[in-house]
Amino acid sequence: GAKAQGKNSYHYFTHDMQKAAIKRISLLNDLRYAVKNNELFLEYQPIVCFNGTKELKAEALLRWQHPQKGRIPPDDFIPLAEESGLIIEISNWVFEEVTKRIKQWRISLSKDVQISINTSPSHYFNQESNITEWLSLLLDKGLSARSILLEVTENLLMEADADVSRKLFQFRQAGVDIALDDFGTGFSSISYLKKFPTDYIKIDKSFVNSMTDVSNDKVLCEAIIVMAKKLGIGVVAEGVETQEQFDILNAMGCDYAQGYLIAKPMHICDFETYLKEN
Ligand code: C2E
Ligand code: MG
Ligand code: MG
Ligand code: MG
Repeated sequence: GAKAQGKNSYHYFTHDMQKAAIKRISLLNDLRYAVKNNELFLEYQPIVCFNGTKELKAEALLRWQHPQKGRIPPDDFIPLAEESGLIIEISNWVFEEVTKRIKQWRISLSKDVQISINTSPSHYFNQESNITEWLSLLLDKGLSARSILLEVTENLLMEADADVSRKLFQFRQAGVDIALDDFGTGFSSISYLKKFPTDYIKIDKSFVNSMTDVSNDKVLCEAIIVMAKKLGIGVVAEGVETQEQFDILNAMGCDYAQGYLIAKPMHICDFETYLKEN
């Protein structure tokens, strides 16, 4: 009967939840080990200028090659890293790795590259975080503040207090660019433009992807671009996959494009080849 069925599904449900919890704990243990065991690495995805200017820009994207489970997507392990606080250690590694490479490319390839780094809320809130030290670490390496760009999401700004906005302001004043990532997916994207310093907006790929079939999304893309221009903010379109999307964005006056049409996120060796060719 219904009662028995309900009871069964209840048991089934808790069993599933238990399994999920165990899976998470085991993945978190693996992640702790991964950091020490060099299983994490970065891929670089180029960001190109619509007007053809040869600025060398790319976003650093974190990858995890698990020895048994293979590639684990960042959307699966980054939330785990954030909840556990492990993200601080991971991001310090990302920063070290990125700045080391930027310096290498400058010396061995004579290329000045700006790399975007994704940041998490805990970088700005956590006491142990040394994001404020990033600036001096950058300058210690002989790199200019313009070598890196910090991407922030609405997630962060939603909880942000005076402390966070002060930190962002410090970075920006020192010359580090700030970009608002996944713009348009949150509830109050526009209000953040009023409250926080931003050099760039990254239009979320969900808008770009459906631009050619959902006419509203095309209008929204255009409105975001027009608004950003009036505010003196640069616009990056994410997830550009087709020439048609590229051409429309270009006609709308978008500044930068990132997506599979230009290049997929690349292993460092391929990215170095890309740098040599550009
Ligand atoms: P995101 O910052 O919005 O990164 C862009 C995502 O779009 C990347 O997913 C990239 O691989 C994907 N992408 C790029 N071009 C295209 C395209 O043409 N089509 C489609 N469909 N997708 C495209 P990925 O690498 O899976 O990263 C997911 C998210 O994980 C990132 O979203 C970012 O929020 C987070 N993440 C990645 N690396 C880091 C990191 O080092 N630290 C932190 N805190 N978060 C990171
Ligand atoms: Mg990003
Ligand atoms: Mg994004
Ligand atoms: Mg994202």
